[in-house]
Amino acid sequence: MRVRTVGDGTPELAVVACLHGDEPCGKTAVERVLAEEPTFERPVRFVVANEEAIAADARCVDEDLNRAFPGDPDGPTHESELAAALLSELRGCAVLDFHSTRSHPDPFALVSRLNDRTKRIARATGVGRVVDISYVAGGLVDHVDGAAVECGLRGTERAARNAERVLRNVLGSTGALDALSEGGTPELYRVFDAVTGRGYEFVGENFVRVEEGEVFARKAGEELRADRPFYPVLMSTDGYDEMVGFRAERAGKL
Ligand SMILES: [Zn+2]
Repeated sequence: MRVRTVGDGTPELAVVACLHGDEPCGKTAVERVLAEEPTFERPVRFVVANEEAIAADARCVDEDLNRAFPGDPDGPTHESELAAALLSELRGCAVLDFHSTRSHPDPFALVSRLNDRTKRIARATGVGRVVDISYVAGGLVDHVDGAAVECGLRGTERAARNAERVLRNVLGSTGALDALSEGGTPELYRVFDAVTGRGYEFVGENFVRVEEGEVFARKAGEELRADRPFYPVLMSTDGYDEMVGFRAERAGKL
């Protein structure tokens, strides 16, 4: 884990990249911003989390770090130890956590603890959609205030540019950098179900409403039909081994 704290004092904002070693967008965005050597008006902690997984160009070494929290300093896996060390670096901070997906090209935020600090960070990202993912327990955003941002398709320059824009927005609107930022009032979605199963082709589009009775996934001789309207979130053909993705409902503006 690489930790760099900039500005004077105790940081109240932390930026985390590479919880997943094969999702480079956040690390690229942080490097681009810090390369300009900006003057930080408020302290910020930057963390590159899973350096061993980055070196292996893999999601993880032993287990998914984003499912290893709270972890254990003497834990049985690399990610268990790392999860505990990371949480202690993040103590007291609101967190911006960067990811990328196999499912959707545009950035959106995932939140779990819907308190004021989390809402402030989610709005500050400038993204148009925020998903309450508290239905799925165990991720970093379950253990800290703040938002995880899915920046776009894994390994693409577009995802890196989206991450950079989100980072500049959050640094600007939290006063860490004296910069213009584009906050907003995003649409809120709430995940209420996971669609499990292996080998399905997802035939819908994320964040586009699936009507009751509509087919949204299929495999040889089998179709998955909506038993009620929903919005697909993180659904894809090959993003997960054992799951198509999540079903969500609209929940107004954040
Ligand atoms: Zn990720």
